[in-house]
Amino acid sequence: MLREITDREAAAKAKDVDLKVGYQGEPGAYGEVAAAAHGGIPRGFASFEKLLEALRDGDVDEAVLPMENAVVGAITEALEPFATFVAEGMELVAVDITSVPVRLSLAARPGTPLGAVKRAWSHPAALRQCTHRLAQMGIERVVCYDTAGAAQIVAHEASTDAAVCSRRAAERYGLAVLVEDVSDKEQNGTRFVHLRMADHARAQVSLAFLRTSSMTATGRLDVLTGATLLPLAGTTEYPVRMWVLGADAARLQALAPVRDVQVISLGQPAAHAAQVTPPRQGTEPVIKSLPHATARRAPTVVEVGPLRLGGGARAVIAGPCSVESAEQVMRIAKEVASCGATALRGGIFKPRTNPYAFQGHGLEALDWLVAAGKANGLPVVTEVMAIDQVKPVAEKADVLQIGARNMQNFDLLRAVGRAGRPVLLKRGAGSTVDEWLGAAEYIMAAGEMRVILCERGIRTFETSTRNTLDVGGMLAARPLTHLPIIADPSHAAGRADLVEGLARGAWSAGADGLMVEVHDDPARALSDAEQALVPARFAELARNLALHPDARLPLAQLRAWVDAIDHDLGVLVQRRLEVAKVIGDSKRQTGRAVLDPRREAAVRRTYQEALPGSKGLADKLVDLLLEAAKAQQSIDED
Ligand code: PEP
Ligand code: MN
Repeated sequence: MLREITDREAAAKAKDVDLKVGYQGEPGAYGEVAAAAHGGIPRGFASFEKLLEALRDGDVDEAVLPMENAVVGAITEALEPFATFVAEGMELVAVDITSVPVRLSLAARPGTPLGAVKRAWSHPAALRQCTHRLAQMGIERVVCYDTAGAAQIVAHEASTDAAVCSRRAAERYGLAVLVEDVSDKEQNGTRFVHLRMADHARAQVSLAFLRTSSMTATGRLDVLTGATLLPLAGTTEYPVRMWVLGADAARLQALAPVRDVQVISLGQPAAHAAQVTPPRQGTEPVIKSLPHATARRAPTVVEVGPLRLGGGARAVIAGPCSVESAEQVMRIAKEVASCGATALRGGIFKPRTNPYAFQGHGLEALDWLVAAGKANGLPVVTEVMAIDQVKPVAEKADVLQIGARNMQNFDLLRAVGRAGRPVLLKRGAGSTVDEWLGAAEYIMAAGEMRVILCERGIRTFETSTRNTLDVGGMLAARPLTHLPIIADPSHAAGRADLVEGLARGAWSAGADGLMVEVHDDPARALSDAEQALVPARFAELARNLALHPDARLPLAQLRAWVDAIDHDLGVLVQRRLEVAKVIGDSKRQTGRAVLDPRREAAVRRTYQEALPGSKGLADKLVDLLLEAAKAQQSIDED
């Protein structure tokens, strides 16, 4: 194994002379200089996306990407697509860093006097590096995709426009240099990272992408001191995203299990350090014998009216274990809908351990269930236990459920697969993850691709719970399949007092949704009385999961809802102040300016994104937060 690697590397080194190295831009761009740094053959690409695709497809052996510029810092134009490719599973390693000195000339067609230049073309990152000088000269900035490309544009247009580019690019396209260097800073330079596919090379440079949905995780950023942090704007899912260059990899990885932090490493000099990658959907390992359920494809989103599950969409299905009467299911439907559930469950055929126990009201109850769903805008989910039930139920129900006891009833799986309705497939209490996926494959092979997997607890030696909710099994299934995976904490717990805890556990582990049993009079429920949540407790759970309530809820409950949110907001603001203070400390320690207008603009964008349609509010919030952070900094300095 070791020999193999050594041989491959020796071969790669010997080959360096005819190594194809891709860069973004036209010949003459700074990327070309970086690409040629080790004697490789440079090849230009129109965009960073095209460049990374070419590396992935083997059209080039190496790609160079600008990461950081001395004047403007992180080059987000390159770092964003880079992050996207890495987050989507492209396995890259960083093999080198090249620093390219940057001198940005102002160049125009020969004979153009400087005074006649009113507009300058260039790459946005280059234009940012000469904001002040160009403004002083009264020159307007025009964005295009590349510095050398700008020279090409200017050369082809009969105008007095100029390009901001290297002298090399200016000369290449026959332009005259009017000003040698229009950078705002004298010692300008850009650092490029050299990337190769992980299966062709080993990492030489420590580089990682870090993202997290947990604000609190950034409180430990101090452990990264010494690394270069190149922050990107946050998204709703990951408010904190950054590239980390030169960190101690082991310490960085140590963040991951402690907090909700994902670290995708592109290599570290210590060859033995473990690589932690986040769970990915529908990627490896693919179980070849299950081509539909484990296909490599984007996450499947199962959408039935307001119910959306998968690919980031999360929802709660709620309702009684059994449909007991038209009134019972109507009352409960109204309750769960008002709390934000987007589908109604209810059994009409009940699989009971005891043959003398209530077996469900059958097809008559389907009409009650459907009426309750319709009246409250909820699609309905109900179980079928036998092949002859499939057709009549599929005519009226929105989603067909296969219960745990029937997970390997293969004829029934084939029958529901042909019924033209999405299928919610419970995992058998004694079934492995592979068997569960095998059952999904039966349904898909019969034609129904909208399968929702539901973990509902497996049988273990434990007797204090009805079953053991197998969150580990859910997580193990996640990288194997693109199908949505939800959890049913009710049947796992068998006791109402544990349902909320299990629900929250599964939700924070990344479940695409939940299925919860709710009853407004559990003492009189005809089945699973012990595990039913009363509506008020379901409302509390829904609030904790951030579902959206509606006006049908009693005012006192809506107020409790908003009070809880206010409390959480206060706690988050306090955390923000604490983290902002640590960032200030870190900047002082590394000799950076504490106030950074570009960061302020990024923060503003984050709030505007999180508050679509409330720009005024977003701006006011940012003003307040920045003011508080600044007040805190100046108190410190006194
Ligand atoms: C149900 O959801 O009502 C049910 C019977 O669940 P399971 O098949 O998971 O026991
Ligand atoms: Mn039940």
